[in-house]
This record gives sequence, structure tokens and C-alpha cells, in this order.
Amino acid sequence: MYILLMGPPGAGKGTQAVQLVEKLGIPHISTGDMFRAAVKEGTELGKQAKACMDAGQLVPDAVTIGIVKERLTKADCKKGFILDGFPRTLDQANALDSTLKDLGISLTRVVNITVPAEDLISRITGRRICKNCGATYHVTFNPPAADSKCDKCSGELYQRADDSEATVANRLSVYAKQTEPLIEYYRTQGLYSEIDGRQEIGKVFTDIMNSLRGSAV
Ligand SMILES: [Zn+2]
Repeated sequence: MYILLMGPPGAGKGTQAVQLVEKLGIPHISTGDMFRAAVKEGTELGKQAKACMDAGQLVPDAVTIGIVKERLTKADCKKGFILDGFPRTLDQANALDSTLKDLGISLTRVVNITVPAEDLISRITGRRICKNCGATYHVTFNPPAADSKCDKCSGELYQRADDSEATVANRLSVYAKQTEPLIEYYRTQGLYSEIDGRQEIGKVFTDIMNSLRGSAV
């Protein structure tokens, strides 16, 4: 199964990826992990990516695509993969298609976990983290027993600067603009499945598995 996993920040993609890895026995490949591994291994592309990141520049597509290609040719991807965070643009989607063609494989399904922006904003802006032990809470869904104190260590709880409403709203709108053309691209190819990420975690997972079952392997 060659799966492409999409979804805005806060939609629960990470949680679902963990369960998919367990169920399907294929690796979860996120862009961040891929970059870190390439940099750590010191590959030629890894070095180029690192130079860009150190200079605060965007990593050029050619480098990103090269790193993806190197990763997808590794032995653990023989049976499939769950690709997450790539492609972000139509150019990258086209590059992925030709890479997969070279490898003699094609995507099984593109799974997009969707949650309306207003729900994501309340999910993300309600997050609180313990300064001391890193435990996470949510003011509505998982509140601490005592206000702004960690249940485990009584540490002070704080909100990440990235989780403020303005930052989250901006992040979501950038994401939506970026991914809209991709949705159309994969819908046209008959590969696209939309999953309602507002449901409870187990139901989201069932829906994803059902969408995969309907696909040719
Ligand atoms: Zn704590």
C-alpha cells in the first residue's frame, strides 16, 4: 500500500499514522524525519538541505524531491509507505509521480483528514504544556485538575507561542491555499478520499481503513 496522508495541523494525522504503521506494517515517512535523517547520514542532498536550512532559506524542490526519492528506494518501503507532508505543491506532485513511475509503483490512495478551521483553532489554541515535565493538556478536552497547574508535577502550564489564535489561523489558511490544487489533482485521478477528522479517533481510523480497502493494492 502506497499511501499519501494529508491533513491540516491539528487534524490528528500523527495519531492515525501511528495506528496505520502498526496495522499495515509499512513505514511512516514524514518530511521532517526525512530531512533530519538525510542531514544526519551526511548524504550529498542532506548537506545541500542543511546549508539551506542553516541559511534560513527554503530547501529547493530539486533537493527535497531527491531526498524523497532516496528515502522511497530504501528496503523498508518495498511493501509500501505512508508519505506525510509531501507533496505540498503541484510541481512536487508531478515530481512524485515520475519518481514512483521510475520505481514501478503507483499510489494506492490519498487520504485527507479534514477538520473545519474553527474546530482546529479551538483544538490548537486550547493546548497547554507543563513547563517542568512537558505533559500536555487541553483547557476543554483534557483540563488539569487545578487551574494552570500540572496534575503530575504541579509545574506551571503555558501556551506555545505558535498556538496563539492569529498564528494558527494564518498557518491554516496557508495550508488550505497550498493543498487545494493537490486535492483536485488527486480527485481527478480517482485516488482521493476525504475523512471526517471530527469523529472520535477509532472511527477516523476505521474510515481510513475502509477507504484503503476500496483501492487496488
Ligand atoms: Zn508537569
